[in-house]
Amino acid sequence: MLGKVIILCAPSGSGKTTLAKHLLSNELFNLKFSVSSTTRKKREGEIDGKDYHFLSLNEFKNKIDNDEFIEYEQVYEDTFYGTLKSEVNSLIKNNNIIFDVDVVGAESLKNYFGDKSLSVFIAPPSIEELENRLISRAKNNKEEINERINKAKEEINKKDSFDAVLINDDLNKAKNNLSKIVSDFLINE
Ligand code: ADP
Ligand code: 5GP
Repeated sequence: MLGKVIILCAPSGSGKTTLAKHLLSNELFNLKFSVSSTTRKKREGEIDGKDYHFLSLNEFKNKIDNDEFIEYEQVYEDTFYGTLKSEVNSLIKNNNIIFDVDVVGAESLKNYFGDKSLSVFIAPPSIEELENRLISRAKNNKEEINERINKAKEEINKKDSFDAVLINDDLNKAKNNLSKIVSDFLINE
């Protein structure tokens, strides 16, 4: 039987990686992470094939030309992100899948998977707190942080088009609330 799909979307720094890991650790959900492809540079600690498939601009463009993506997008200048058909087709045969994408990617995936998917927007408690988290995560320089904050403001305006919205204020509460939403969709529905 084909699996179901959870689409997590949040401005960078809002906690989707942390929350996605929490969902993935619950065996009852039988979730596998869809590894996106990107042309951005690998950050310290990231593993090729696990966090992202890190591609050169040329490799990425070739895959666009060969129609290998379900969806792709230029998220920041010279930085492409996308979901490969091959990644999804192999996972969905025996698993539910979790995606971590931006708003435009989430819309495309929701259109593609329809009722088989649940889209969840994870919002930071405030823009100030988002900035604090990006600074303390210490993985982006000042320019990158500004870029992410500007994009976050645009994304938060679109949160009402999602099936569910979750505020990630207290982390434990957010983990519990998200698990409940996901459990209702994957197990009880
Ligand atoms: P994203 O994947 O959306 O970019 P991360 O999961 O990397 O976000 O979270 C960004 C930073 O904020 C990390 O350092 C993470 O540990 C921290 N963080 C996540 N959720 C919370 C929370 N509820 N309260 C405080 N810090 C948090
Ligand atoms: P980061 O560089 O911080 O890991 O991610 C930057 C942004 O790209 C995030 O908003 C993330 O959700 C988004 N993103 C990651 N993978 C994909 C993808 O496959 N497709 C789309 N459209 N966006 C993605």
